[in-house]
Amino acid sequence: MPSRAITLVIGLSLTACSQRPVDPALERYIASIKAVDDHAHPMLQLPPGAKPDTEYDALPLDALPPMTLPARLRADHPDWIAAQRAVKERGAKNPAEALDFAGIAIMLSNRVAMGPGLAPPRFLWVPFADALMLPLDGRLESARTPDTRSLYALETKLLHRYMNDLGVAKLPASLDDYVKTVVTPTLERQKKGGAVAVKFEAAYLRALDFDDPDPNLARLVYSRFAAGGTPGRAEYKTLQDYLFRVIAREAGRLGLSVHIHSTDVAGSFYSARGADPALLESALNDSTLRATKFVIIHGGWPLTTHTLSLFAKGNVYADISMAGMIAEPRQLASTLRVWLYEYPDRVLFGTDAFDGGKDQSWEAGAWLAANSARHALGLALTGMLRDGVITHERAEQLARMVMQGNALELYGLGRAGAVRDVEVIVP
Ligand SMILES: [Zn+2]
Repeated sequence: MPSRAITLVIGLSLTACSQRPVDPALERYIASIKAVDDHAHPMLQLPPGAKPDTEYDALPLDALPPMTLPARLRADHPDWIAAQRAVKERGAKNPAEALDFAGIAIMLSNRVAMGPGLAPPRFLWVPFADALMLPLDGRLESARTPDTRSLYALETKLLHRYMNDLGVAKLPASLDDYVKTVVTPTLERQKKGGAVAVKFEAAYLRALDFDDPDPNLARLVYSRFAAGGTPGRAEYKTLQDYLFRVIAREAGRLGLSVHIHSTDVAGSFYSARGADPALLESALNDSTLRATKFVIIHGGWPLTTHTLSLFAKGNVYADISMAGMIAEPRQLASTLRVWLYEYPDRVLFGTDAFDGGKDQSWEAGAWLAANSARHALGLALTGMLRDGVITHERAEQLARMVMQGNALELYGLGRAGAVRDVEVIVP
């Protein structure tokens, strides 16, 4: 019966046409959620003529030799040009207005220090911890690649700043004294200064395989080189591995989460293999670190199935910062779908908004990454909805968890009064 066949074909194609990639009601709902951005580098609001803001990262990428970036991170990508234009037209008068434009309520600000325009409750501080892990002469380490050459010197400078802030003039002679007089007081100072987490950028410097060395060996290495001299690479790794665990343990005791950069960029000599989140398993299986909450920043992109396997540890979370800027939305949606189905309470929204020069403002980055992440989340939840895996109500609940609820819970921001004056309740 040809006429019925024709009707059937027309019916099918009508359904296909009317099915938008993201369910429209869900899309509107996701757009309305005021987000908590797990990771970004907002810039200070400085008066004209002021010294430029150099504290947006402990290891700024412009310290590295020229590198190849994924296409969508380049300033000449059409999406960046559109984002720059959209943000410019809107003309935010201050950093908080830039957050409003991107639909972000709270931005965790990964910076060496905070300052004008970046104040709680909209901007919460995430300082850097790597310098505390690197008290000795890193000459042999830094000679490894053209990238690491400039980076170790920046860490040494930051450690001196931390010590200066504490009034400690030189490294104590013993490792235990170093921990007692520099490591713990710095973390306490950061906590007192409003920090909610500390960040490791270690993957720019070394592999993420933080082993569990004999503490006496670590003490020996430290005391031998604290006053001068250059430790061998294996010796220094022993000390770093020990200190990583001490820092993570102390951070947990103080209620600071530990953020760890894990993705395959950036730098021409960057070790993608060394940044594999699976390398963290030894540290994450340390039973003395279970009071510490770890967040895999950038989700380990593109090795997101390795991240998935780490969620089973119970104290591991991951955000999609940067991944939302690099990846095609449907690719990120596939990751979100697997993560959300298996560990819905561990997944965090994030942008990694950064300042990339005059054609890449952090405000445009926030807008671009937030829109991309919302779109990917919409695709993931729509797919689950249409496959009958979740209900519409559950889709909205998952959207809320990713965009704000999981972060509020993780950082203790959901408690009454913890984020005064910020509208974090969804409509
Ligand atoms: Zn970042």
